[in-house]
Amino acid sequence: QKAEWAKLKNEATVTKDGVEVELGANIGTPKDLTGVLDNGGEAIGLYRTEFLYMGRDNFPTEDEQFDAYSAVLKGMEGKPTVVRTLDIGGDKELSYLTLPKELNPFLGLRAIRLCLEMPDMFRTQLRALLRASVHGNLKVMFPMIATLDEFRQAKALLLEEKAKLESEGIDVSDSIEVGIMVEIPSAAVMADTFAKEVDFFSIGTNDLIQYTMAADRMNESVSYLYQPYNPAILRLVKNVIDASHKEGKWTGMCGEMAGDEIAIPILLGLGLDEFSMSASSILKARSQLSRLSKADMEGHVDHILGLATSQEVEDYVKNL
Ligand code: PEP
Ligand code: MG
Repeated sequence: QKAEWAKLKNEATVTKDGVEVELGANIGTPKDLTGVLDNGGEAIGLYRTEFLYMGRDNFPTEDEQFDAYSAVLKGMEGKPTVVRTLDIGGDKELSYLTLPKELNPFLGLRAIRLCLEMPDMFRTQLRALLRASVHGNLKVMFPMIATLDEFRQAKALLLEEKAKLESEGIDVSDSIEVGIMVEIPSAAVMADTFAKEVDFFSIGTNDLIQYTMAADRMNESVSYLYQPYNPAILRLVKNVIDASHKEGKWTGMCGEMAGDEIAIPILLGLGLDEFSMSASSILKARSQLSRLSKADMEGHVDHILGLATSQEVEDYVKNL
């Protein structure tokens, strides 16, 4: 099996009926690039930049960030590279940033909320990204977007920093796509409205499942509610994909679900454009997709979304 997968390393990801999809990798640091290339990653679907801020005792400077982002973009040699802006808060803390204690940190000041609250810190990251953009195919992604207003504010800061850099005579790419993670149910429900303004969506199912089912993703006592195949999740996913396609935009998925053997056929049928997963899952997913027909899966989607429970979905897909 491993030998069969290895043969797929330099191949495109094509279904049995000839449809191409993109398989990307999730990374945390520039060091992860080797794994992406060794496993035939066609893109980086999620670069979690928070690791650059963690395990140290002060904020990374603009130049330090520029170096990291440039290294990743150069290493990808023009392949799509989705960099997520800082997603700190929740369970991820920084020793040098004291934030007020919260009763529900996962529902509190985290990710884009914190960045908009601390615009100087955010602007530094945006400048580093913009400067690095000339070294590859950068796509900027904002995490934990709940409202259109948050997206507009974040994008406005990005455009302001771009204008500043240009007035300083610094080159910035003119083709940077700007998108959002869909990991809060409000954004999934309002996807049609978002789709008019964002360039792309990436569905973060790790959080989307947690917030839709109101079940802490780390809490063993309620792990039975952590159901990727629950029709509630699948319907939200469908809503996002359909909304993006209506506006000529694309949708990826960068939560664990994107590399899941049961989920992959469903996501293919729903029309997902990009699957981003840990690098070690890419070749297996490419092999699975080559044996699936998109047209066949499209024919199963209505039935699957009409099923009542997560278990029914799982049983149905296993028996295809
Ligand atoms: C997600 O929420 O699905 C996701 C990819 O982001 P993280 O796991 O970093 O929260
Ligand atoms: Mg998340």
